[in-house]
Amino acid sequence: MTHRCDALLVGAGIMGATLARLLRQLDPALEVVVLERLPALAAESSAALNNAGTGHAANCELNYTPQAADGSVPISKALAINASFELSLQFWASLVERGELQDPAAFIRAVPHLSFVWGEANVAFLRRRWEALNATPQFAGMQWSGDSAQLREWMPLVMDGRRLDQPLAATRVARGTDVNFGALSAALLEGLDVRLQHEVVGLERGGAGWRVEARQSDGSTACFEAPFVFLGAGGGALPLLQRSGIPEARQYGAFPVSGQWLVCRNPEVIAGHNAKVYGKAAVGAPPMSVPHLDTRWIEGQRALLFGPYAGFSTRFLKQGSLWDLAGSVKPFNLLPSLQVGASNFDLVRYLVGQVLQSPEQRLESLRQFLPEARGDDWELAVAGQRVQIIKQVDGRGCLQMGTEVVSSADGSLAALLGASPGASTAVQTMVEVLQRCWPERFAGSGWPEQLRTLIPGWGMDLGADPDHLAALRSRADAALGLGVG
Ligand SMILES: Cc1cc2nc3c(=O)[nH]c(=O)nc-3n(C[C@H](O)[C@H](O)[C@H](O)COP(=O)(O)OP(=O)(O)OC[C@H]3O[C@@H](n4cnc5c(N)ncnc54)[C@H](O)[C@@H]3O)c2cc1C
Repeated sequence: MTHRCDALLVGAGIMGATLARLLRQLDPALEVVVLERLPALAAESSAALNNAGTGHAANCELNYTPQAADGSVPISKALAINASFELSLQFWASLVERGELQDPAAFIRAVPHLSFVWGEANVAFLRRRWEALNATPQFAGMQWSGDSAQLREWMPLVMDGRRLDQPLAATRVARGTDVNFGALSAALLEGLDVRLQHEVVGLERGGAGWRVEARQSDGSTACFEAPFVFLGAGGGALPLLQRSGIPEARQYGAFPVSGQWLVCRNPEVIAGHNAKVYGKAAVGAPPMSVPHLDTRWIEGQRALLFGPYAGFSTRFLKQGSLWDLAGSVKPFNLLPSLQVGASNFDLVRYLVGQVLQSPEQRLESLRQFLPEARGDDWELAVAGQRVQIIKQVDGRGCLQMGTEVVSSADGSLAALLGASPGASTAVQTMVEVLQRCWPERFAGSGWPEQLRTLIPGWGMDLGADPDHLAALRSRADAALGLGVG
C-alpha cells in the first residue's frame, strides 16, 4: 500500500523538525510525514553531544570575521549570521507563547559568549573586530577587555595559572546561548507524524510527484508518494540527492570531517566556568575546528566540553557506513573531488595531524585554554560527522564550509547540504526552502503574513532600527527565559 501525503521530509534532525513545525504552523491541513532511519529522534548531528550547542550569533566565532589582506576585518558575514539566529530565537519564542513548545530551559540557556586570544597580532585583530562590530546596533552590547583582572572575572579557570607576560584580550557578549538542538528537535516534532526506523532507500519521480521507498526495521518496505520531498538527512542528504537524479545534484560532491571532544567529569571544574570561550583556529584548520571551551546544558545538568579535535572518517553519518564517501563519488564529481584533495593540502595535513594526536597532545591543546587542566578530569567522546560541500565552480572543484539548499527546477524536491553554521540558522534556511518550493503560497499575503507574525524580524534589516531590535530581543528573551539584561 502506498501512503500519500502533501510533504515528505527525510530526517528527524533539527532541519526536518523545523520544516515540519513551520508547515504545521502555516497550514495545519497539510499532511506532513517525517521519515527517520534510526530508532530515535535527532540522534545524528543534532544530538546534544554530537555538536557544540552554540547558538551561532557570530558573537565569539572568529572564523566569521577573517582578517582581510589589508588588515581590515569585514563583518558582513557576522551581521548576517547574527540576524539569522535572531529569527530562530523569534520563531522558538512564538511557539513558546502559543503553547506549542513547553519548557524552553530544556533546550536553551543563556551562556555568555567570549572570544579569547593571546599574542600581539591576535590582540590587535580582536580589537579591530570588536571596534567594527561594536559600532553596529546588533553588537552594541559586546564588551572588550585586555585587563587580566577583568578577564579573570569573566573566566576564572581560564586565567588560573596563565602567564601574564604576554598580551591577552577577550570580548564578551552576555546575551549568548547554549542550545540543545536534540531536545529542541524532539520538542518541535511532538504531535507530528514521524515514522522511526524508516530508512529511505528509493527515490524516483512518479505518482503525484515523488515515489519514496523506506526500509523498515523488519526488512519490509513502506511506500510513500508526495508532491514535495525535503532531504534533511544531514550527511545522508547527498547520496539521496544523487539518487533523485535531478540535474542540479551533478554539481556536488562531499568531504567528511569527523570530530572529538574532551568532556569534563569533575563537577568542581564544571561549576567554575560559565561561558563559551572561542579561540583562533590553527593554521590549515578548517574554520569549524576553532577550539572552544563550552559550558553546556544537557538534560538539566551543566556540562563542560572542549574541542572539537578534527579527524577523518569516510562515513557521512556517525551511524553510517565506511563506504559512504566511495559511494558518493560519481563520474561527474570525481575530478572536482580530486582537485579539492590536491588544492587543500593544509587541510589534509591538519586532519592527519589531528587523527594522530596522542592523549598528551590533546591535553596540551586544552591547557592553552585551561592551563591547570588535569588529564584525569577529562574523557574523550566522539562528536557528529560534518559533511562539507564540494561544488563545481567554473569547472573546478571547490571546498565550501557553509550550508546550501539545493532544489529541483520545479520545486518538488529540496535538500540541505553542508554543515556550518548549521542548526542555529535552521529557521531562516527552512523558510528559504519554503520560498523556493512553495512559491504559490508566497504569491498572496497568506504565508508571508503568517510568517511575519511567527517571526517578526523576517524580511527586516535588523540593524536599521535599534529600538525595534531591542524590543524584538526582549520579547524573545522573556519567552525563552534567557533573562539577560
Ligand atoms: C562537531 C560538530 C559541532 C557543531 N556545532 C554546532 C554548533 O555549535 N551550533 C550549530 O548551530 N551547529 C553546529 N553544528 C552543525 C549542526 O549540528 C548541524 O548543522 C545540524 O545538526 C544538522 O541538522 P540536520 O537535521 O540537517 O542533520 P542531522 O541532525 O544529522 O539529522 C539528519 C537525520 O536524517 C536521518 N537520515 C539520514 N539518512 C536517512 C535516510 N536515508 N532515511 C531516513 N533518515 C535518514 C539521520 O539518521 C538523522 O537523524 C555542529 C556539527 C558538528 C558535527
